[in-house]
Amino acid sequence: GALPVNDNESTHALDRRHVFHSWSVQGALDPMVIAGGEGSTVWDFDGRRYLDFSSQLVNVNIGHQHPRIVEAIREQAGRLTTVAPAHANDMRGEAAARITAHAPDGFDKVFFTNGGADANENAIRMARLVTGRDKVISRYRSYHGNTGAAIVATGDWRRVSNEYATGHVHAFGPYLYRSEFWATTPEQECERALQHLERIVQCEGPSTVAAILLETIPGTAGVLVPPPGYLAGVRAIADRYGILLILDEVMAGFARAGEWFAFDAEGLVPDLVTFAKGVNSGYVPVGGVLISDRVARHFDDRMFPGGLTYSGHPLAAASIVASIDAMEQEGIVEHAAEIGRSHLGPGLAALAAKHEVIGEVRGRGVFWAVELVSDAETREPVTAAWMGRLKGELLQRGVLPFTADNRLHVVPPAVVTPAEVATGLQVVDETLAALA
Ligand code: PLP
Repeated sequence: GALPVNDNESTHALDRRHVFHSWSVQGALDPMVIAGGEGSTVWDFDGRRYLDFSSQLVNVNIGHQHPRIVEAIREQAGRLTTVAPAHANDMRGEAAARITAHAPDGFDKVFFTNGGADANENAIRMARLVTGRDKVISRYRSYHGNTGAAIVATGDWRRVSNEYATGHVHAFGPYLYRSEFWATTPEQECERALQHLERIVQCEGPSTVAAILLETIPGTAGVLVPPPGYLAGVRAIADRYGILLILDEVMAGFARAGEWFAFDAEGLVPDLVTFAKGVNSGYVPVGGVLISDRVARHFDDRMFPGGLTYSGHPLAAASIVASIDAMEQEGIVEHAAEIGRSHLGPGLAALAAKHEVIGEVRGRGVFWAVELVSDAETREPVTAAWMGRLKGELLQRGVLPFTADNRLHVVPPAVVTPAEVATGLQVVDETLAALA
């Protein structure tokens, strides 16, 4: 039988023997052992502590082991651990009501999934059924999840070996630092990115396009905060051609960008919203689609041909209720915005002024990317080997980072304290100095 494993070495050995990892060459893995955590800190079995500037996979927005959420899961486990999706369950209803309470007017229904990928999968399906069209336009710099349509909607390298779904088209979005549009101002970048998108709609044939699917703020692609007016411009294009707008808030939502939904700050309302990660900080796997009344009405007298055994699982639902209540009562969304405004934003700007390797810093809330370049003029990205050294040195100094391509993403839990931000940024400062 299996014995409890409680040291770094045996945990690592057991993992290497039996666990098949995501997105990895299995023989080249050397996973870091994590035994426990609290708030913005995690530790291994030797008691080595790390400031979690990754929030794991940018999902532990409320911090590790928040006592109210742990207790809510425990309590629900004692009452009813599982229930079929066809039944009405109090916690599932409460969770859906908590989510719609933070949505714009005209969003009253939630379809729960197991995570973010299948949230996008089902949102795409709804858009296709409502419009009677099949194409989905998404962006090259995006990640939407690892299932049939979601991975083909994805814009990064992870799509390329997985292209089995049909009806997907990609466009470039605004990204002034590496502009695809020869733009030199945010206004130009915005205008040209919108023109490019509208031309793609026209050339694909507007009557074939069901949805435009965008991350409100592309996350893993580099925390690409859109220029003012871009998303409202996309909304206008969608309206002009009868296309539904799906905003993927899986990473950006629930305090990450300093808002309940990142689009709250952008002056537009989508037709469908997908969520996961921060909705319950991953304490139990869950995601979902927030459905506007316009889309929901379509299924009032037609079947929705889709479902999941664990749709609205009671343990997930209980953790959502507790998480949203804690975020409200403890002011966590406002705290995240303030951390961005007064601590991470100014702190990272100071580092950028000091270290030539920092090409650009962008973000808001607890959602930031630091773009690292070997040449400030040409913006040549630093190498993968350099990024490997950065990661190793940060870990040595007690900071667990999130890195992607040539970027350090500074994405701590939304409950991170000003003191923890100061400590983490000092470690980044020292590490960049050491690597210079
Ligand atoms: N959408 C976005 C924006 C994401 O960042 C992710 C995950 O990183 C997903 C979708 C997929 O979510 P999941 O891994 O829960 O399926």
